Amino acid sequence: MASDSFSTLSISSAQIANLDSLGYKKMTAVQAQGLPSVLEGKDLIARAKTGSGKTAAFGIGLLEKINPRFFGAQALILCPTRELADQVGKEIRKLARCIPNIKVVLLCGGKPFGFQKASLEHGAHIIVGTPGRIQDHLNRETLVLDGLKTLVLDEADRMLDMGFSEVINEIIDETPKNRQTLLFSATYPNSIEKMCASILQNPVTVSVESEHQTSVIEQVFFKVKEHERNDALLALFEHYQPETTVVFCHTKIQCDEVARFLEGHEIEALAIHGDLEQRDRDQVLIRFANKSCSVLVATDVAARGLDIKSLSAVVNYELPRDPDIYVHRIGRTGRAGEKGIALSLFINSEKMRVNAIEDYQDKPCQLQNIDSLSRDAKFSVHPTMATMQIDVGRKNKIRPGDILGALTGDAGLSGSQIGKIDIFDIASYIAIDRKALRQVLDYFANGKIKGKLVRARMIS
Ligand code: AMP
Repeated sequence: MASDSFSTLSISSAQIANLDSLGYKKMTAVQAQGLPSVLEGKDLIARAKTGSGKTAAFGIGLLEKINPRFFGAQALILCPTRELADQVGKEIRKLARCIPNIKVVLLCGGKPFGFQKASLEHGAHIIVGTPGRIQDHLNRETLVLDGLKTLVLDEADRMLDMGFSEVINEIIDETPKNRQTLLFSATYPNSIEKMCASILQNPVTVSVESEHQTSVIEQVFFKVKEHERNDALLALFEHYQPETTVVFCHTKIQCDEVARFLEGHEIEALAIHGDLEQRDRDQVLIRFANKSCSVLVATDVAARGLDIKSLSAVVNYELPRDPDIYVHRIGRTGRAGEKGIALSLFINSEKMRVNAIEDYQDKPCQLQNIDSLSRDAKFSVHPTMATMQIDVGRKNKIRPGDILGALTGDAGLSGSQIGKIDIFDIASYIAIDRKALRQVLDYFANGKIKGKLVRARMIS
């Protein structure tokens, strides 16, 4: 039996069958290195990023210890952002399918407190959330962590960057001393080392970061003049013709300006940054993830927790000062063994940043002249999909199958004309082939889903 087969682990046969049905044929590196210790009950420090399969590395472990008959919180997963918490919650629900009646509750800011309180009153085995909101629940005694068995800190470095250190310590004070603690972090600065020393006991350490980064991501750096940045950006699109791209900028204003510039050159792009309302942020992320927009212009904070398997390209419109952030940004491309490209623009005064990246990666950066790129093919992106919003969701007990059923049945679409379906509490988003839009809008003029008339509108 291969050592990276899930059947080498001491987990239930129901879980092995579940993993098989999810298409997880063998363990990823962080799972193979981390899970045996996690299942033995040891504390773990894992240096691994989103995309490495880290959620299953802690999810499979914590689920083995859950007692479905005890309806108190037994596992708590702290995440820096709501997007990441959503993503982790989804993955845990998939992994928990093999155990009947396991309840996973999301506790994040920006959502009504009352609903969350009611969910907790019905009993919850696994809590996923952001530190601020979890602390609110603890303060108001709507959440009790006395029966906690496993505590997970996900993207711990980001949580510290966002200033959650004190809140996290206060939350940990509410948990039993004999809990198991698992800490995941993309980077390992001193602040994380200190935190680990105070909250983990005899931890096992695994690191899976470096291997895939250098091997599958092609990194190219282009020196430009400040006033040439925009034209250089177009040159990159025209030469590399990437299918999905995130362009990283430093500031919110820059994000808006760059997105507007691209729009003016027939490249449909959306800007995402902290100034957007949560609802608009959600919609931008949905449109990008369901392929109805293929270029996102983002700040580092806003791009966290993007639910995208792999980007074709990451572009640094400006280089970050910290090489850690550079490595984190480019790790969004070239995942799962696919080849990715990371393209960076820098001006003379930013040369030090290139040097810092060279030191950090311990290899020279590949510099290229932007004028050497062929720009024969014009790059214009008008995505083939568009996003439609309908006013029914989880609260109406709508499932993706109901929407798919209505559209392929009564509305007459073929399955291939329907893309990703995202269901939220009171709304759902459907990616639809632009050619079929008229048909879908006509259908919803008086069409129904599960017997209910629904209102639909385009959001892109
Ligand atoms: P994560 O790093 O947890 O965000 O996981 C990245 C993606 O890999 C998720 O979409 C998982 O569903 C998927 N994944 C996790 N473990 C495996 C595995 N062993 N085989 C295939 N896919 C996996």
